[in-house]
Amino acid sequence: MLIVMKFGGTSVGSAERIMQAGQLAVDTAAKGHEVVVVTSAMSKVTDALIGAARLASTGHWDPALREELFERHKAVADVLVGDDAARHEAVLGALRQRLERFEKLCFGLSMVHELTPRLLDAISGTGEMLAAPLVAAAIASRGRTSQAVEATELIVTTDQHGGAEPLTDETRVKTTERLKPAIARGEIPVVTGFVAATADGVMTTLGRGGTDYSASIIGAALNADEVWIWTDVDGVMTANPSEVPEARTLAEISYSEASELAYYGAKVLHYKTILPAFRQRIPVRVLNSFNPGHPGTRVTVEGHPSAQGVKAVTSIRGVILVAISGTGMQGTPGIVAKTFDVVAAQQASVLMISQASSENNICFILSATEAPRVVAALRIALEFELMRGHIEEIEAEQQVAIVAAVGDRMRGAPGIAATVFGALGGAGVNVIAISQGSSERNISLVVAERDAADAVRAIHRAFQLDKMS
Ligand code: ASP
Ligand code: MG
Repeated sequence: MLIVMKFGGTSVGSAERIMQAGQLAVDTAAKGHEVVVVTSAMSKVTDALIGAARLASTGHWDPALREELFERHKAVADVLVGDDAARHEAVLGALRQRLERFEKLCFGLSMVHELTPRLLDAISGTGEMLAAPLVAAAIASRGRTSQAVEATELIVTTDQHGGAEPLTDETRVKTTERLKPAIARGEIPVVTGFVAATADGVMTTLGRGGTDYSASIIGAALNADEVWIWTDVDGVMTANPSEVPEARTLAEISYSEASELAYYGAKVLHYKTILPAFRQRIPVRVLNSFNPGHPGTRVTVEGHPSAQGVKAVTSIRGVILVAISGTGMQGTPGIVAKTFDVVAAQQASVLMISQASSENNICFILSATEAPRVVAALRIALEFELMRGHIEEIEAEQQVAIVAAVGDRMRGAPGIAATVFGALGGAGVNVIAISQGSSERNISLVVAERDAADAVRAIHRAFQLDKMS
């Protein structure tokens, strides 16, 4: 099999972790697989780089940071290849060269006092450029030929700096040309995650946490058999274990379940990042580099449907319910359109919507950061309707949470909603609003924030998710 494996920041957070990452890559190759590694920056490095760039643009460039970054990465090189003078010097050379570029960019910023998204991309990707030579050295020190490869040579994107989108065809050509010969020679290339470049070669980034996306894009470009995401949890779980102690790791979920779960706060995989793999039906595996013996979670087309229907329960806290109500709304066209025009104009994203067929009330959920400005804008935009009494109130209710039960097999299965609401009734949880899309993969409810944990636990218990495998 050809396996593209990604290591996140904590999985390459120290010399010990990088050694372990290298070992995992080498062990997988030893089983007869072809392996391409994609690495994140060491943990916290990206934040430090972005902080430095911001500070530099206000005229303050502190050269101590370059030294700090050098020392942190050099300490790793010392442990990994300290006994191999030639290799050690080569790695230090690579680190120095990348840090010199970083320093020049920051110095430039401190002169011009301006930070454009394009410049921020050029700087924030430095962490991956520092980590890749270390991971390659770890692999090489275990007897496999390995080289660091800059993803700017592989992934071609649009020029939306800070969140660029890959151009599939161009990326496929470049990635295949650059990586296939090395793979064929039995080497393990180590690619920088997060970064990419436009067709003109200007550096871009794929958005924070973008290394998963990089791995999936490269997996798709190479027609890999699997994409493995090495992270610091055992996989995708039936619920948040801090809320539900008996929560279990799911052995397999479908791409659509992954998308529902990513949306509802199960932050293990961001759906967008697995889309390139999904389009080519490439399974994505979430694995724990701190517990590599655990089989993790596989994301596949079928997703091993569960007989209970529901596979996981999640919650989102810190959201606000906006309710627009009035008996005069019945049969008055245009209120919904106007409302969501305002939401869109405020660039807020709606987490859930509900309207009963009496049309006397529409309510929707926004994040707490976006809600105040949306409500203020709604009061202005709907002034006429408020004055005429078509709308009586626009209210924002704080301290609510969304609880969602998710599973592909909920579709067409009667009785699921009954079990959900029976469980909530039994736990004494009051339901404020309800929504189920016609995809039937998700039943979402709004409850008071203080009831959220009880609600999640009650649903988890009712579907016996602690027995799920
Ligand atoms: N290093 C980047 C970040 O912290 C990308 C990643 O970790 O996936 O956002
Ligand atoms: Mg990270």
